[in-house]
Amino acid sequence: MNEDIEYETFVKELHEKHPLMFAQPYGGVCVGKGWYPILRALCHNIQSHIDAVDCWRRSLILKNPHNRPLPEEVPQVVVTQIKEKFGGLRFYYDGGDEMIEGMVHMAESWAAVTCEICGNHGSIRNAGGWLTSLCDMHYNERIELVRSRNATTN
Ligand SMILES: [Zn+2]
Repeated sequence: MNEDIEYETFVKELHEKHPLMFAQPYGGVCVGKGWYPILRALCHNIQSHIDAVDCWRRSLILKNPHNRPLPEEVPQVVVTQIKEKFGGLRFYYDGGDEMIEGMVHMAESWAAVTCEICGNHGSIRNAGGWLTSLCDMHYNERIELVRSRNATTN
């Protein structure tokens, strides 16, 4: 579903909720609003996983009567770039573990079937020489726009 949220508001929300993930410059969130819910869920799940493992480790260090193996610390994820490429979501980062790799893969797959403009079901298609993930409505709108542009330039 389309989110009535401004870019600045969304980015501020991400930075405030996940200061460690956005601790370094990364170039901003260069994707359409239709993908905001995916990014919100992804960032939330990544940080929750890191925090949960950390919490489990700390509790075992304090008290471990059954000698459970200590889980490996998950290196903090730091986002390096968020963009759209060839119609798909690209989420680049440092740190993390295999679980987080899977989360990112899942989010990218989810974006590939989500309209980047409105968040409804879509697919990656060629809209006027440009690969974009769009629903039927926004695909048709884009095609119309390209047609009218070509009509005025020719
Ligand atoms: Zn759409």
